Amino acid sequence: MTKHVVIIGAGAVGAASALEALREGYRVTILDPATPGGEQAASYGNGCWLSPMSVIPPAVPGLWRKVPKFLADPLGPLAIRWSYLPKVAPWLIRYLRSGWRWEQVEATARALRPLVVDAPRLHAALAEQAGVGHLIERRGLIYIYPSRAEFESEKMAWEIRHKVGVRWIELNADELRQREPDLDRRYGFGIMVEEGGHCLDPGAYVAALIAHAETLGAALVRDRAEGFRLAGGRLVAVRTGQGEIACDAAVIAAGAYSKPLARAVGDDVPLESERGYHAEISAPEVAPRHGLMPSDGKMSIMHTANGLRCAGQVEIAGLAAAPNWQRAEILKNHLLSCFPGLPKTIAPERVKVWLGHRPSMPDGMPCLGPSRASPDVIHAFGHGHTGLVAAARTGEIVAALLAGRAPPIPIDAFDSRRFG
Ligand SMILES: Cc1cc2nc3c(=O)[nH]c(=O)nc-3n(C[C@H](O)[C@H](O)[C@H](O)COP(=O)(O)OP(=O)(O)OC[C@H]3O[C@@H](n4cnc5c(N)ncnc54)[C@H](O)[C@@H]3O)c2cc1C
Repeated sequence: MTKHVVIIGAGAVGAASALEALREGYRVTILDPATPGGEQAASYGNGCWLSPMSVIPPAVPGLWRKVPKFLADPLGPLAIRWSYLPKVAPWLIRYLRSGWRWEQVEATARALRPLVVDAPRLHAALAEQAGVGHLIERRGLIYIYPSRAEFESEKMAWEIRHKVGVRWIELNADELRQREPDLDRRYGFGIMVEEGGHCLDPGAYVAALIAHAETLGAALVRDRAEGFRLAGGRLVAVRTGQGEIACDAAVIAAGAYSKPLARAVGDDVPLESERGYHAEISAPEVAPRHGLMPSDGKMSIMHTANGLRCAGQVEIAGLAAAPNWQRAEILKNHLLSCFPGLPKTIAPERVKVWLGHRPSMPDGMPCLGPSRASPDVIHAFGHGHTGLVAAARTGEIVAALLAGRAPPIPIDAFDSRRFG
């Protein structure tokens, strides 16, 4: 009998996992209460970067010294809702400690690089199969700095990137100008990573992957997974709001909402939402040719299919708190300052704002692998800042685990039990 796999969550990770499971010849059911590729998912509104150089975890040595300054700055990239602090404090401590020494950061980078290397090519292939090849572009990504000095201040991180195989081209002010003529002149130095790519519309991309999975025979069920029925350590069914779905295997790919599901199969993981925002200006007067990341804004800028998007900010406030649209306003204002060709004020109807939940583990690495309670329930969540780029290889890993094969890359570092 064909193995029946339930994929819980239809974000980028669930979509890629579903397609790879179908490739293995399994019967696949995709479970999500919401529209695939919809605004509820982090995969909808992210920064669109397919960045094989995203191997440095968010917490690096010395961050703790900068945190008070970030928090005191109302326009800064980091915010914590103070009412949420007691709840999140253990996660924050783990977060800072996991990047305490550069040796730890290098170990993380070595573990993450195989997960993201070559990702633009993998995504291009997935998109092609789903009939949306035009949504993936592979023309490089550029980090922009006021001067070389700001790049030098990030030297350690770039050295580690170099050690794990990332290569780049330095752009002086003229070269940067040639590549990005609309960019404000205060940026006089760039780092171009040619292996980088981007997705023009992550929401549409995920929707297309799921639609393609359906044409290949997957069933899409609009329901919420609530738990599992196990017998003797083997999976019997996924419990949903409306009953049970009998199955042989399940993949937890519910992004930031995966924590209770992981707990239901014995893994109490420190998964937290690093909330982020975007602001997207429709019909922009300028058209950057690459994805850009300004060092002073800590955000990504991308000319998407729908407008000029800037995405970023880290807000620690949990899944339930109301959005603080001021955070999106900060992004929009920084975007305006990057491109003098944009009007000083933009009509509100031209600006779309969005809040999303990065599914973040404190050490910047996902949880990938079998659960404690059953080899039939596989974890595939916790990709934090890099879940779009990492989704494609995650799908391959999930398929190998379902088939009982060795995964295509080492995944020991991603074991959900690493926190005890
Ligand atoms: C501002 C911002 C910028 C970012 N920029 C980038 C970037 O440039 N590049 C990059 O690689 N990554 C980026 N990320 C991170 C990336 O978006 C996420 O890591 C990634 O989208 C996570 O994908 P996912 O499939 O795990 O989760 P999601 O996309 O969140 O999907 C989870 C799905 O699970 C469903 N679900 C929830 N609970 C249940 C349940 N109980 N049962 C069934 N279904 C359920 C939800 O409805 C949702 O559809 C960014 C994130 C943010 C917020």
